[in-house]
Amino acid sequence: MPHDHDNELDPMEARLRALETVLTRKGLIDPAAIDAIIDTYEHRVGPRNGARVVARAWADPDFADRLRRDATAAIAAMGFSGRQGEHMRAVFNTPQTHNLVVCTLCSCYPWPVLGLPPGWYKAPAYRSRAVMAPREVLAEFGLTLPDSMTIRVWDSTAELRYLVVPMRPAGTEGWDEAALTDLVTRDAMIGTARALEPA
Ligand code: FE
Repeated sequence: MPHDHDNELDPMEARLRALETVLTRKGLIDPAAIDAIIDTYEHRVGPRNGARVVARAWADPDFADRLRRDATAAIAAMGFSGRQGEHMRAVFNTPQTHNLVVCTLCSCYPWPVLGLPPGWYKAPAYRSRAVMAPREVLAEFGLTLPDSMTIRVWDSTAELRYLVVPMRPAGTEGWDEAALTDLVTRDAMIGTARALEPA
């Protein structure tokens, strides 16, 4: 990740780190087990839900329409709801417009569909630069967009969380939802990447 220069701990992270150290020294927790749990929510359970939402939107125009009009209800109908996902909005990438999600104030993030936010999402550098210089930030993530493409930046709040629906990759005509799901990454749903191309 090109964001590891941003390694200052905020006060809450510092306290968590201290607490984890104490509990580990006392033999009460196993940091490796905690890392495994966090990894699960960061990379597996969470984003997998969002990927299923996106794949369904690609495969089913009626669902895409419902997702556009009332994302909270459409996502809840798939069984994904709960804390930090009470008020959702889906923003659809098009050939003209790319969407990028940030939380400038803290780290608001749609947990039921994406799991826990990655470290860089919470980092001050991402939170400020995604708004001031989104094209540069995307390029640092390896996503270089033509100048003709508009970038819309969505600032998450406690009231409203965003899910980016990336464009469906070419060459996936006729694919079923399960196969499409595998192309939808966490970063594509934050807007720092495209969906994967078919292998
Ligand atoms: Fe926040």
